Amino acid sequence: MSLPSHDSRVWFSSTPTHRKRSLLHSQQQGCHIQLGTQQLINFSSNDYLGLRNHPKVITAAMQSIKSNGLGSGASRLIGGDAPEFHQLESALADWKAYEACLLVGSGMLANLGLIQALADRHTLIFSDKLNHASLVDGVRLSAGKSYRFPHGDYHALAEQLAKHPAEKRIIISDGVFSMDGDCANVEQLLGLAEQHDCLLVIDDAHGTACIGPQNRGLCANIAGHPRLIEVGTFGKAFGGYGAFILASNELIEGLKQRMRTMIYSTAMPVAMPAAMLTALECIKKGDMQQKLQQNIALFQQQTTGLNLLKSDTPIQALIIGQDSDTLIAAEKLRQQGMFVPAIRPPTVPEGTARLRITLSACHSTQHIEKLTKALKGLA
Ligand SMILES: *Cc1c(COP(=O)(O)O)cnc(C)c1O
Repeated sequence: MSLPSHDSRVWFSSTPTHRKRSLLHSQQQGCHIQLGTQQLINFSSNDYLGLRNHPKVITAAMQSIKSNGLGSGASRLIGGDAPEFHQLESALADWKAYEACLLVGSGMLANLGLIQALADRHTLIFSDKLNHASLVDGVRLSAGKSYRFPHGDYHALAEQLAKHPAEKRIIISDGVFSMDGDCANVEQLLGLAEQHDCLLVIDDAHGTACIGPQNRGLCANIAGHPRLIEVGTFGKAFGGYGAFILASNELIEGLKQRMRTMIYSTAMPVAMPAAMLTALECIKKGDMQQKLQQNIALFQQQTTGLNLLKSDTPIQALIIGQDSDTLIAAEKLRQQGMFVPAIRPPTVPEGTARLRITLSACHSTQHIEKLTKALKGLA
């Protein structure tokens, strides 16, 4: 008997099996990860500074849950707000040197809501081809018309801008690119935005708290510019969950009126901004970043000659090429006690399957040395 096609059991049956993703039943402990019965050194986490386990951050969250409860109960506009949200928004705006800040449930929600709010049907949007999926989907969800330029090719972008005039235009780019670990030239992008009268949106989810002057991210030198909107997240170096948008007072006020993913979504638990205020205090001290930089430098020094994409960030991509070879490489590392995920198309372009290594301040010198030795042994 054949199954009907409008049936949940066969709805997705055309997905090729080799592309199937699976949830990994895992548990993280410090910079280790437990997968089934295996305890592995974790080179897959975006917890670049080890803050997700920081005792002060955890205490702040627990104290807040004790006095505020867990869930926030409603959208911030209808009773889910709390002083901690505002305290964190001013602390982030001050630290990052912008006029105003708005917290959002997650980076995905921030980008979906931000671009939808910014772009109407008269708006043209110019995006880097390797932008994060949340930016890609934000553009799709908006009424704006989309143009994509080849990754980091600002000549091509300038040509597109010259060719497609419009009253409202927005340039959108990742800061640190999440799969390649390379960086946008944000000064050059701002120059183009000024020259062509555009807004500029930079999503620096991976740069925030890790790189740049005082670890304020890639945009530190252009922060507060009236054309610039910066997005950051708590899920990476902050060791938490959630996101924030930084911009002028007027832009942030406009988002509070329009941004559907903030208006129609439950506020994050109050414990999160409470904990992130403490995380920010730790981030400002800068000692964890020093350790992270040492680990990045050690990794680079020990991997010369390997097919790594050029990156000075905690994200290091070792390009293997074929999907199957990449899976085999990841399995070999796993057998040696290390978890490094294989990243395959469609997350990355065809033929560029890779091991995506993320380095953290909580890795020891021995962890890095063990990894680089194993990577050299893969060839
Ligand atoms: C992780 C990431 C996001 C999504 O943030 P979440 O808070 O995990 O939803 C958005 N943009 C970039 C560039 C990211 O790396």
